[in-house]
Amino acid sequence: MGPTLKSMFDQTAAKFPEREGLADERINVRWTYGEWKEEVNRFAHTLQDNGISKGDVVSTVLFNTSEFMTVLFACARLGAVFNPINFRLTEKEIAFILADAEPKVVVYERATSPQVDPVQEDMTDVQFWSIDEKDGKGEYLYSKLSSEVTNVETELDEDDTYAIMYTSGTTGKPKGVLHTHRDMVDQAMAMALTLRLTAADKGLSIGPMFHCAELHCAIFPRILVGAGNAILHHYDPKETIRLVREEGITTMFGAPTMWHMMIQEEFTKEDITTLRQGLYGGAPMPPSLTRELYDVLGIGLVQAYGMTEMGPAITVQMEDEQIKKAGSAGKPLVNQEIRIIRSEDEESGTPDDICAPGELGEIIVRGPSMMKGYYKRPEATEKSIRDGWYYSGDVGMMDEEGYLWVRDRVKDMIISGGENIYSREVEDALSDHPAVEDAAVVGEPDAKWGEQVVAFIVKKEEVTAQEIDEFLLSGNRLSRYKRPKRYEFVEELPRNASGKLQKFKLREEAVKTK
Ligand code: ATP
Repeated sequence: MGPTLKSMFDQTAAKFPEREGLADERINVRWTYGEWKEEVNRFAHTLQDNGISKGDVVSTVLFNTSEFMTVLFACARLGAVFNPINFRLTEKEIAFILADAEPKVVVYERATSPQVDPVQEDMTDVQFWSIDEKDGKGEYLYSKLSSEVTNVETELDEDDTYAIMYTSGTTGKPKGVLHTHRDMVDQAMAMALTLRLTAADKGLSIGPMFHCAELHCAIFPRILVGAGNAILHHYDPKETIRLVREEGITTMFGAPTMWHMMIQEEFTKEDITTLRQGLYGGAPMPPSLTRELYDVLGIGLVQAYGMTEMGPAITVQMEDEQIKKAGSAGKPLVNQEIRIIRSEDEESGTPDDICAPGELGEIIVRGPSMMKGYYKRPEATEKSIRDGWYYSGDVGMMDEEGYLWVRDRVKDMIISGGENIYSREVEDALSDHPAVEDAAVVGEPDAKWGEQVVAFIVKKEEVTAQEIDEFLLSGNRLSRYKRPKRYEFVEELPRNASGKLQKFKLREEAVKTK
């Protein structure tokens, strides 16, 4: 017996029964922690009445909604396994995850019914509940909601699985990552401490809740300390600014692209005066954008680096380091340990072959929020957790002062003429050009060099490939061999719902445009 998400929620509800816990404008609810707990129990009774018990899987295909959070804590009460699915996935991708996770119930909404309704035909033994009243295929959740608010109690252990979270699959088929209750309480404690959160804070969820960055690094730490939580159904920069002002938001997580979109809007510092802290992660932010954000928002952002498998956060870069160490991912979180090791590929390397400061290698990590393993994939688990360390598949280095610099994913690294080229370095240099709005590079096969660098550029203003190339050459911005050999100008870069670049799409594009 140790801390669980259920005990964490119950303790907050007991300490702050009158404090606002959750506000969701979409369905016009504003609950205190005491009221929210009653709603959680109502959902837990509903699940129980419909045959769900400890160990059963409950999936959601929901945007940011209060129901997402309430189903999550109802599952935590029951010991059921929560399985949040990315709302942007196609019908086929959702079918893949459902077949793998084998849920008993799927909770979804009108906005995701185009992908979920067709899947239902082949899954007759699964219950599909929609949170919206409609004439689609699922049952209307609220028509079956229990009125019972008594506490649902189950025998729970800290090592029980709390969730299966599927990685977004930017590097292959999604794998289900198993996290325990304990993993999450540990991650929430470390983040709450790092972000200096108190019950006086109020956060706004703009990042997708199905992704562990928003859920585990922003929402759970807030619930741990009794802070408030407001919800934006789906990201919209104007609505974000309005809600920050109207709700008095003090803290908010967003993918780098969300912050970028937000500062394109017209607003004054008065509109966001309550915002004391911004948080980003999940993808790198070019140093040029970090500096621009600092100027426009008047606050530094905290960066988190990590991966679903580790909870996710493993390092944080604090506000005051954003400018001084722009481009780095900061230092390890209080309960995480990091090493950079020499390895040839994702399957080699030992934890003791540690790189010297400044030397690039694979990032490996260990800490209490490490996943239990991949669901139904013992081989993949054995490959990624070796000698108690999680092998991240990311390439990076530690500098003399102990700051981590993430350079690339091993799989995205470009090898040209025998030299390793790390995407991040090229992308950051491209983003420094004033006419470049967004940039990404991938490798394409080349008869002479093995691979060559292709750049995809979103322009802010008129600029030619030659001008960008001259810019890279000037002032020693980038070594000659790292420069792109080809530039493609595009309207936007393919990113998933959590703001991650989908490089496989760019590689396909490179083949088409060659
Ligand atoms: P898959 O591994 O299947 O592609 P994914 O992209 O969903 O899945 P996540 O756990 O969401 O996996 O993302 C983890 C990866 O995102 C990290 O390994 C790293 O490459 C990148 N990443 C996360 N945070 C940062 C950051 N602050 N800076 C740079 N890269 C980051």
